[in-house]
Amino acid sequence: MSICSFSNQSKFPFVLPALPYANNALMPFVSEETFSFHHQKHHNTYIVNLNKLIDGTELASLDLEAIITQTFGKADKIGIYNNAAQVWNHSFFWQSMSAPKSKVLGGEILKRIERDFGSFTAFADAFKNTGASQFGSGWVWVCEDASGKIVITKTSNADTPVTQGLNPLLTCDVWEHAYYIDYQNRRLDFLTAFIENLANWEVANQRLKH
Ligand code: FE
Repeated sequence: MSICSFSNQSKFPFVLPALPYANNALMPFVSEETFSFHHQKHHNTYIVNLNKLIDGTELASLDLEAIITQTFGKADKIGIYNNAAQVWNHSFFWQSMSAPKSKVLGGEILKRIERDFGSFTAFADAFKNTGASQFGSGWVWVCEDASGKIVITKTSNADTPVTQGLNPLLTCDVWEHAYYIDYQNRRLDFLTAFIENLANWEVANQRLKH
């Protein structure tokens, strides 16, 4: 399933997707104030900037994933790439969360986690350690590789596994703007809240394709 079908913003002009839950639905783990900045200001700014940068160019006819893959690694397109990737990453991040413990771990994703990590505890520890060890801004991802193996990866700044041949199943934003209002410098506490209480395992199961 393409991210674009989640975010209802497949082509220019891109629009800020509504959150898939009320802005107080993730409390006490993510506050309304965090959403008022992170969704309404940070995410929206990436969308406004992307639209400005591609208006009147050939990229305006492409869908979001194509804009990302066609600008990746091109020095003269870095601004477009960064904004497009951040639009994608944030749209997917909102979908990666759900009201606390409302989308419980089960089904095929649980079988794969236990097969590939031994236990959910070992998987969750690997996720938290990977997110905590991302130096500076970035993202931590649960992905499926081409053989169907579940892998945990991290990316810097706007980078996304979409350009690395991996199928993202869930992501957590570890830019400071994602957690500073609620957790200050305690990134590990935010990652723990995400993987133990907020992760949307229904979305992860739906996105498995190998
Ligand atoms: Fe963010």
